[in-house]
Amino acid sequence: VLMRVTVFGSANADLVFPVPELPAAGRTVLGGAWRAAPGGKGANQAVAAARDGAALRFAGAVGRDFLAGLALSALRDAGADLSAVVEVEAPTGAAAICVDPQGRNQIAVSPGANALARAAGVPPLAPGEIVLMQMEVPPEENAALILRARAEGALPVLNLAPAGPLDPAALRALHLLVANEHEAAWLAARLGCAADAVALHGALGITVAVTLGERGAEAAGAGGRHTIPAFPARAIDTTGAGDCWCGVLAASLSCGAPLEGAMRRASAAASIAVSRPGAADAMPRAEETDRLLGG
Ligand code: ATP
Repeated sequence: VLMRVTVFGSANADLVFPVPELPAAGRTVLGGAWRAAPGGKGANQAVAAARDGAALRFAGAVGRDFLAGLALSALRDAGADLSAVVEVEAPTGAAAICVDPQGRNQIAVSPGANALARAAGVPPLAPGEIVLMQMEVPPEENAALILRARAEGALPVLNLAPAGPLDPAALRALHLLVANEHEAAWLAARLGCAADAVALHGALGITVAVTLGERGAEAAGAGGRHTIPAFPARAIDTTGAGDCWCGVLAASLSCGAPLEGAMRRASAAASIAVSRPGAADAMPRAEETDRLLGG
C-alpha cells in the first residue's frame, strides 16, 4: 500500500549571504557570492518525503511574484503534486540569511504568503492518507486541518516547529506529534510535565516523537516506546535535519511501515542530510537511504 502524503505548510525563498562578520545595526558588510535556495519547513519536509518516494501533494500559499518559482522549484523537480498550491495577494515568504565563517547566522524571515495559507484551500483528503503540518502557517489553520483530517479518515501529523500555541482539542486529535528537544521543553512547560516522549504521551494521550539531534530520537505511544540512535555522520550543515526526519518519517509511514521502522529510516536519511550543505537541496533520494540501511 502506498497512501498519499499531503504536506500543508510554508514555502519560502531563502537568500543566503556569506559574510566575513554578521552586520551590526547601521553597518554594511561586503559578502561573497550569494545563493538562492528553496526553503520553508513545509516545502523542505515535502521535498524530503517526495525524494524518499512518497506520493506527495503540497498545499500552501505563494505570491504572484518571481520568488514563487524558486520556493516551489525543488518540489517541482521532485515530481510533487502542486495543484493545491494557491497564489495569494502577498509576497512569497522569504528569508535573508547571513552566515559568517564560523557558521553562525543571522536570519530575517518574512512569512508573506504563508500567513494566508488556509485549511479550506486543501482539497478533500483520502482515508488513511498522512497530513503533515508544521507551525509556519497560522495555528488556527493547522487546528482546522487536523480536525478535518480526522473527520475525513486521514492521519494528522504535526511537527511543532517553531513551538507555539495550538488549540488543545486539535493537539489531542493528532495521530502523531513530532518535536525537537527545545519544542518538547516548551510544550512540557505548558503542560506541567517532563520534557520527554513518555511524559508528553502521558499528558496528551497521543503518540509523541522527540528528536534529540546526534543522540537520535525517542517515541512513546499506545504501541509502546521506541528509542532510535542517530546514524553516525560527518555533520557539516544540520539545517533541515528535523525537516528531513519528519518528511521521511511521513513517507515511510505512508508505505505502511510501523513507527519504529519509520523512525529508523528517518534517522538514516537525516544523517545523510546533515553531511551536505543546504536544507531542501540536502534531502537524500530513496536509493541513498536504502543503501545506508543496507537494503
Ligand atoms: P534542525 O533545526 O537543525 O533542522 P531539529 O532541531 O529540528 O533540526 P534534531 O533533533 O537536531 O532536529 O535532528 C533531527 C534528527 O536528525 C535526529 O533525530 C537525528 O536522527 C538526525 N541528526 C541530527 N543531527 C545529527 C548528527 N550530527 N549526526 C547524525 N544525525 C543527526
